[in-house]
Amino acid sequence: MLMTSTISETKRLAALAALDLLDTQPEPRFDRYTRLAAMTFGVPIALITLVDGQRQWFKSRCGLDADETPRAIAFCSQAIAQREMLVIEDAAFDTRFADNPLVKGDPHIRFYAGQPVFCDGHAVGTLCIVDRNPRRFDAAQRDSLRDLADLVEAELNQARVATARVMAEQALKSLNAELEQRVAQRTAELEARLVELSAEAAQRKAAELSLRDAEAWNRTIVATSYSAFIGADAEGRITEWNPAAERIFGWNRAEALGRPLAKLIVPEELRATHFAGMARYLATGASNVVDRQVELPALTASGRRITVEMKVGAYEWQGRRCVGAFLDDVSERNRTRQQLEEKQELLDAVLESIDVAVVACDADGNLTLFNKKARMLHGLDRECIKSPDWSRHYSLYEADGHTPLAPADVPLVRVLRGEVVREQAMTVAPAGRPPTTLLASGRPLKSNTGRALGAVVAMHDITERNAAREQLEASERRLRAITENLPALIGKVNAAGKFVFLNGRAIQFYGKPPEALIGHDVRDAYSEPEYAKLEPHLRRVHGGERSTFEDVIEVGGRQLYYQCVFVPQRAPDGTPDGYYAMAFDMTARKLSELRQAESEERLRTITDNVPVLIAYLDAERRYAFANAVHASWLGVRPDHMLGLTVEEAFGPAFHAPQANALEQAWLGNASQCEHEIVRKNHTRIVHSTFLPQLRDGRVAGVYILTTDATASRLHERSLHALAHTDPLTQLPNRRRFEQALEGATSRSRQGDRDCALLYLDIDFFKQINDRYGHATGDDVLVEFARRLRISVRSTDLVARLAGDEFTVLLHDVRSEADAERVARKILEAVAEPFVLAAHTLKVGTTIGVGLASAGALDPRTLMETADRALYAAKKAGRHTYAILHTGEYA
Ligand code: GH3
Ligand code: MG
Repeated sequence: MLMTSTISETKRLAALAALDLLDTQPEPRFDRYTRLAAMTFGVPIALITLVDGQRQWFKSRCGLDADETPRAIAFCSQAIAQREMLVIEDAAFDTRFADNPLVKGDPHIRFYAGQPVFCDGHAVGTLCIVDRNPRRFDAAQRDSLRDLADLVEAELNQARVATARVMAEQALKSLNAELEQRVAQRTAELEARLVELSAEAAQRKAAELSLRDAEAWNRTIVATSYSAFIGADAEGRITEWNPAAERIFGWNRAEALGRPLAKLIVPEELRATHFAGMARYLATGASNVVDRQVELPALTASGRRITVEMKVGAYEWQGRRCVGAFLDDVSERNRTRQQLEEKQELLDAVLESIDVAVVACDADGNLTLFNKKARMLHGLDRECIKSPDWSRHYSLYEADGHTPLAPADVPLVRVLRGEVVREQAMTVAPAGRPPTTLLASGRPLKSNTGRALGAVVAMHDITERNAAREQLEASERRLRAITENLPALIGKVNAAGKFVFLNGRAIQFYGKPPEALIGHDVRDAYSEPEYAKLEPHLRRVHGGERSTFEDVIEVGGRQLYYQCVFVPQRAPDGTPDGYYAMAFDMTARKLSELRQAESEERLRTITDNVPVLIAYLDAERRYAFANAVHASWLGVRPDHMLGLTVEEAFGPAFHAPQANALEQAWLGNASQCEHEIVRKNHTRIVHSTFLPQLRDGRVAGVYILTTDATASRLHERSLHALAHTDPLTQLPNRRRFEQALEGATSRSRQGDRDCALLYLDIDFFKQINDRYGHATGDDVLVEFARRLRISVRSTDLVARLAGDEFTVLLHDVRSEADAERVARKILEAVAEPFVLAAHTLKVGTTIGVGLASAGALDPRTLMETADRALYAAKKAGRHTYAILHTGEYA
């Protein structure tokens, strides 16, 4: 290139030294090329030479014994000086070499062809062939030598590229490790580091710019750049491809040169943009990317997608517009930065939410962190206060709560001095706020290189812990004071199943000295079988469940009843903390209960066996007791009635008839009533007595006794019926009629309806008797009664007063016509021949109708009126009727 003369020999020698090949053992990877060259060109000697300061040294030699020759006489020295192939077809006739000792003497060189090989742009040596005879070397042969030399060059560089890659990877790894380390220490170095990074970038950029400005586009700079450098010509073909580009993109220089840039590294979807940009730039000189730094996706040889930071510069070379770009693979850096930011966020979130105060400062004693809990404790945020003032400003005191903390004793100050602080007790007591007792722990922050970065201190609030302990002790004292006076055995057992507390009675119960119980396993206090009885309850309470049970223990041949309660306990943090056990001596109560049960049993035996319903309603008016007779009389088992009201147990039909009497009992008055119990078509007439149970002047309950009155009531009823019924016709008799008339007239007096009384007498009845006999007379009376009944409404009362005299009492008569209609209907019914067992005969009747207006009625007057009407009707003839109103005379 144009800069040949400026390349300093020093740099070339440095590049050569970097290969690390001088004076190394022969290697087959190089020897195969010299063998191949000797074969290919049919020459006795082929060499790979490295041109050192004062000598040329052979990395590989075929057909020559010497290791090296002085540089001054070396053909290769000439070749590398001109940086291109040197061919001497006959040295004897070449003025430069005719006198060369290697020509004149051993090995008697006549022919020489040497192709320089490059490293980082420096010609470091050659691949050369030598013959002792002159010979021609045509263009095809020259190409072949060049090809072979390219291979040698690649071989030379390969190790170096690999080493560089490993070093780069190691560098990245260690960078990452360092970043990790910093996150762990949550230093504020991120920003500083980023600043440094950008400063570095800026410097690099400035350097690159100045280099470009100085037209210092040369291979030396490009080749040694850590950034990839890619040059491209106007067609977009790659003209420059430095080792960093090889490292980043994975294509080696030979592969890249001459290839279209777009195809090599530009991702498919960006190619159109890339081409357009190039075209515009070439045409107009304007570009979106030139002289700017951009981040872009790019592809590597393996097809991996990476992010590159690219700075494009444009330059003219040999009158043509070209571009050159520096590129850095920033994928890893971006990823690391993102991870770092995420970790920082996480750390911030954690710090803000934990219940531990965390404060930190940098190496200069500037407070850098005050998390939420710290701000709460102090009632202050992080401020620009110097360490000697921290104690006063943030109200820091010794653990006693009143001695101000000496500035040198402030935990953060101690840590900053390099101490590791563990659980230093101290108090924060800002004015007007409750003091907080803290345990502070902290350690210095150091970078992984050991540089002091600052200090961090975490403070645990133990105020509550202290308060809780005091509370616990107080409650323990209280507990003992109370429990000693309780008629119960009381103990506390810890999660490990050991007694931690027992009251006096409990110690007495176990019959051992306290020291043989407290701190010992519960199991040891019991015999095997007794412990086995407790075990299910212990399992429950250890499982966090309260367990209540009764236990019978035999002591001195006497049975003691205990009601036991195991109550699980939890520590304030929720962890199980054993249980409280309480046992109440129930022996006395139990015995009285047993006695009561026995007497209740006796009572029940009796009550269940008398044919009486016996029940007790409690103050809630619900059955609290009912004897077994309820099941047979009412079909409901006593145990199903308990807790129900009368109505709920047996329905409204049963309750309603007793409701009034029962209500009386609730008012405190003994009462009774008669009602019916209908069950499966069987009606039982019963008599219930309700007795209030009075306690302190209030009704505490009601006893109900219900006796079966069916038999006596039926007897009474039949007597009553006998007294009120005519035995021949089964019609109500005079007595009944008179009662009914009394009732009807009194009801009618209150209403607005008229009332009519029909008085009937069979015509010529004596003659019937006389002619057909008395029995037929009776049959006539029975048939006459039947016809009367069917001629009137069921609500009208038909009665036989005596002999052949009958009455019909009509209620709700609206007018005289109503009464007349009934009278006529009866006459028609009677007029039909009487078909009797022995005879068929005609019967007649005469009717006297007495009408009483509503409100003006008395039974006697109505009877007399009807009687007068009958008399009048008889006088008028037979089988007819007459009507008279009360107060009216016929
Ligand atoms: P009149 O048309 O005026 O009513 O003439 P009568 O024959 O019906 O006379 P009256 O009503 O006075 O006679 C009633 C008779 O009824 C008198 C008595 O012998 C008869 N007698 C009364 N009680 C009974 C009875 O229980 N059975 C029978 N067979 N006859 C009876
Ligand atoms: Mg008569």
